[in-house]
Amino acid sequence: MSDVALADPLMNTYNRFPLTIVRGKGSVVWDDKGKQYLDFTSGIGTCNLGHVPEEVKTAVSHQLEELWHCSNLFYIRAQETLAALLTARSFGEQVFFCNSGAEANEAAVKLARKYAENRKGAASKEVITFTHSFHGRTLATLTATGQDHVKEGFAPLPEGFRHLPFNCPESLEEIDGAQTAAVLLELVQGEGGVSPADSDWVKELQAKCRKENILLMVDEVQTGMGRTGTLFAYEQYGITPDVMTLAKGLGSGFPIGAVVANRKAAAGFGPGTHGTTFGGNPLACTAGAATLEIMTGNGIPEQAMTAGKRLKTDIEAWCGEFGEIREVRGKGLLLGMELNGEAAEVVREARQEGLLILTAGKNVIRLLPPLTVSQEEAAKAVNILQTIFERRKETSG
Ligand SMILES: *Cc1c(COP(=O)(O)O)cnc(C)c1O
Repeated sequence: MSDVALADPLMNTYNRFPLTIVRGKGSVVWDDKGKQYLDFTSGIGTCNLGHVPEEVKTAVSHQLEELWHCSNLFYIRAQETLAALLTARSFGEQVFFCNSGAEANEAAVKLARKYAENRKGAASKEVITFTHSFHGRTLATLTATGQDHVKEGFAPLPEGFRHLPFNCPESLEEIDGAQTAAVLLELVQGEGGVSPADSDWVKELQAKCRKENILLMVDEVQTGMGRTGTLFAYEQYGITPDVMTLAKGLGSGFPIGAVVANRKAAAGFGPGTHGTTFGGNPLACTAGAATLEIMTGNGIPEQAMTAGKRLKTDIEAWCGEFGEIREVRGKGLLLGMELNGEAAEVVREARQEGLLILTAGKNVIRLLPPLTVSQEEAAKAVNILQTIFERRKETSG
């Protein structure tokens, strides 16, 4: 329970909200006291089809009756189904399944190093990432992450990572194929403040990678699965990456991660080079396959695009009245509102009004509703936010 802090048997790794969620349906969750909230966090961009989506529930329920686990020493039908769906709907040709975003990025880094060793030699092992990025909490992925606070106290960190400034054309000149195996980036930085990559910069980055035989790897753990208004964010950038990592929305809340790669990059891995006990588990892959079928069959990314544009426009209609709000930005239903002050205060006030939202860094409010959010629900959230900013303006002035 949230209000029992002292005898807590859980390690103190999260700055938790004082709230215990016990049930969810669509865009709504209920706490242990029966209070209802509009959930614009979606488990941090994970429950993209809303809470407990019926078709996914049915598919997983059937699988629960058949087989839970059997190890990757055997062929797993659901895994092949999901891999076929992912490759049919993306640039990818082969998939490796794991359990989380960090594991997917970790595997991508390993893949890039193998690729470089086989194709370019041992000197070109570096992976370039960008400032304000977020790639996970394992030792390699926190090193890849372009934010110092996740690294504090964890040295010695693995070697072979270099950070360049995000969206900076000049920095591309520093990329050298003789040293570099891969570039890894988020096309919209999520945790780092909801910052979209500049389209021209991304195209130049791709050109540079092609020229220097460097793998272009996109971390779509948060932007993927319809979140930004297309199934994958790279589609909106007119680029074709070599590797893409997925997790959050892939299983509608069932833990799963994936590395999707073209054949050239995927050839880095051979038998015995990488593996996991749970990755590609029948239950997880069944959840993933059902999620992807529903998402593409029902035009969910397109819905997210429309809903995201409306939500952004509706907020922009009044946010200029409040000096506190600097900017509304993002793509699809990955939206950020940058404030002059602390975003956490607004998040707390919203919760009191029955709206769950997130921060992204100190000054940015992050809105991540389910992609299936209704127009009424979105309008209600916009109203709550407007009311909060009105009240804050009155009490501060
Ligand atoms: C959340 C996230 C990760 C880490 O995923 P986990 O499943 O928490 O390990 C990696 N990259 C991005 C862009 C993320 O948003």
